[in-house]
Amino acid sequence: MNPSDTGRPEGDAGAAAEVKPLLDAPQTPAAAVVMWIFVVGPVICLIVVVPLVWGWGLSALDVGMAVAAYLVSIVGLTVGYHRLFTHRSFKAKRGLRIALAVAGSLGVEGSPVQWVANHRRHHAFADREGDPHSPWRFGTDTRALLKGLLHAHVGWMLKRELSNRARFAPDIAADRDLRLIGRLFGPLAAVSLLAPALVGGLVTGTWTGALTGFFWAGVMRMALLHHVTWSVNSVCHVAGRRPFASRDKATNFWPLALLSFGESWHNSHHADPTGARHGVLPGQLDPAARLIRVFEKLGWVHDVRWPNPDRLSARPLPEPSGPHESAA
Ligand SMILES: [Zn+2]
Ligand SMILES: [Zn+2]
Repeated sequence: MNPSDTGRPEGDAGAAAEVKPLLDAPQTPAAAVVMWIFVVGPVICLIVVVPLVWGWGLSALDVGMAVAAYLVSIVGLTVGYHRLFTHRSFKAKRGLRIALAVAGSLGVEGSPVQWVANHRRHHAFADREGDPHSPWRFGTDTRALLKGLLHAHVGWMLKRELSNRARFAPDIAADRDLRLIGRLFGPLAAVSLLAPALVGGLVTGTWTGALTGFFWAGVMRMALLHHVTWSVNSVCHVAGRRPFASRDKATNFWPLALLSFGESWHNSHHADPTGARHGVLPGQLDPAARLIRVFEKLGWVHDVRWPNPDRLSARPLPEPSGPHESAA
């Protein structure tokens, strides 16, 4: 039986799981330093570099590589890490699972097992104590909410806290392919950042081409992807509409639908977490769901959990309401 069918929080099933602690041992100081570099570094880079390269430092090749790399890595994160590995919204052939795990690793958001553990913990405790990244953590007044938004967006990653993989992602930890890809996370992250430099250098035959390829299609593409996915954790629990009843404050925030590949239909997702489509209402763009549909037609995925009208129709709120109304 799927855990969500029982109303029990996902990833937190079974009596045995309840005795395991929420957290693993704290991450090492070295890992914390790396997190600071990857979270804060790109923003500083952008501020420093853009005035220097203005007018000459961005080529059509850089833009093309950045778009291609963005598409590969966001497909890996949304279709692979999130909908397949975390929520088991569908089953996929081994080759596709491996490809999605590699593509997700190129998004530079951690190994599959750690990402899944964090995200299942988020669903299990959404906007309550134990949620790794709730913007409502410090309270509901403006000051507390601003602090909470910063915490949900980036702050939680800078703390030395790791969700317990044995409790929240034992299936991922037991998967040999995903374990191997997890061990290769460092090299894959390096490939993600350096491959655009190599292509840029080879195509243009210049060091400048290598440098701008690295900067735009490597670092800045990664940073944009990060802030879009982190906005699902921060903005999509505060701003937007809540057409479906869920136990948390998740919202549907349309401006991020395209860039997030459909992940910003986050209220619908929390209302029906195992659904393969998050944009369930008419006109809601969900590129990740479209791609899953294509994979299904090709025979690469099966047992797709397309939205269940019974579950969703049982959950509409009488009036669309903002999160602040229920925040008090
Ligand atoms: Zn959420
Ligand atoms: Zn989710």
